[in-house]
Amino acid sequence: MIGGDRLDFEVRRNSAPVSAAERAALMANPGFGRIFTDHMVTIRYADGKGWYDARVEPRAPIPMDPASAVLHYAQEIFEGLKAYQAADGGITMFRPEANAARFAASAQRMAMPVLPEQVFLDSLHQLVEIDRDWIPTGEGGSLYLRPFMFASEVFLGVRPALEYLYVLIASPVGSYFSGGVQPVTVWVSPTYTRAAPGGTGAAKTGGNYASSLVAQAEAIDHGCDQVVFLDAVERRYVDELGGMNIFFRYDDDTLVTPPLGGTILAGITRDSVLRLAADAGLTVVERPVSFDEWRADAESGRLREAFACGTAAVITPIGQVRFPDGEFTIADGAPGEVTTALRQRLVDLQRGRAEDPYGWVHRVD
Ligand SMILES: *Cc1c(COP(=O)(O)O)cnc(C)c1O
Repeated sequence: MIGGDRLDFEVRRNSAPVSAAERAALMANPGFGRIFTDHMVTIRYADGKGWYDARVEPRAPIPMDPASAVLHYAQEIFEGLKAYQAADGGITMFRPEANAARFAASAQRMAMPVLPEQVFLDSLHQLVEIDRDWIPTGEGGSLYLRPFMFASEVFLGVRPALEYLYVLIASPVGSYFSGGVQPVTVWVSPTYTRAAPGGTGAAKTGGNYASSLVAQAEAIDHGCDQVVFLDAVERRYVDELGGMNIFFRYDDDTLVTPPLGGTILAGITRDSVLRLAADAGLTVVERPVSFDEWRADAESGRLREAFACGTAAVITPIGQVRFPDGEFTIADGAPGEVTTALRQRLVDLQRGRAEDPYGWVHRVD
């Protein structure tokens, strides 16, 4: 560790990077999370020693002992954010300081050491700069950054591990919606919940996703795209989707989202939407919304729009809602005007097409 919260990165360039022609072919239709850049960042942690051995190195498999603690007890956290090619050829990231802070909060909840936020940000800079040729330039494309950390100690005892590995990888992604934004149909699971009070719902940890997969499969079985979880105590209030927060727009121009309270992941997109909506003149309210109320207001027409939001898909309109006893449609099922306007505003900010009065756009160079 140098100068308090800084680390020196040892840079080892990939001596056999993907050729420009092959890279162009891969990036023509990247999809999501299928192709990766030439490098990765790794930083080690050991109890008593702290963070050390920060490297930028060729992307490669991570050798792992079968007794590595993460493989048994899932002590793991991650983040997700995007880097963009700005109109002037520079590189930007959207609110990476918020991801750094959330990564620290997730680490604390999972009894893991906190990577200094400045080191987290430096790691993003390092990788984005060395792999800048992998940032898509086309409409809707971006470089998805995936920082993660896991318990690497070789030990089967149940306690917080004494050794960890932080890794950052990057994946060029295309527009989430090829062929225009499509409303999704969501399934309200009668069977499964995502997070209970006192649990890990507010931490970005792989285990939350592992436990949501069966519910997502249930949603698919019912012809839906995504699952919506109700609260684990009363099975009454809407929490969020498997990996996205949820919003409701009413006919009196209020925009409502469930309050954070330990069971909901504090999305950075959610936070940005709250701010943009308030600045656009909507009345923004964080309050519990019950499933019964959601259904009644959709049926009466008082509820005009609903959408889900998160980094990967930005803002996704919800067209239909299914549950074991039936289904209902939000307005006419098409993307709503507030949903569309908020999405456009957010994307314009993220891509540097609109002036940023919030200080959200972080320049890399
Ligand atoms: C990551 C995540 C979100 C969205 O967070 P963003 O910061 O907006 O990408 C929402 N819900 C869950 C469960 C998540 O893991």
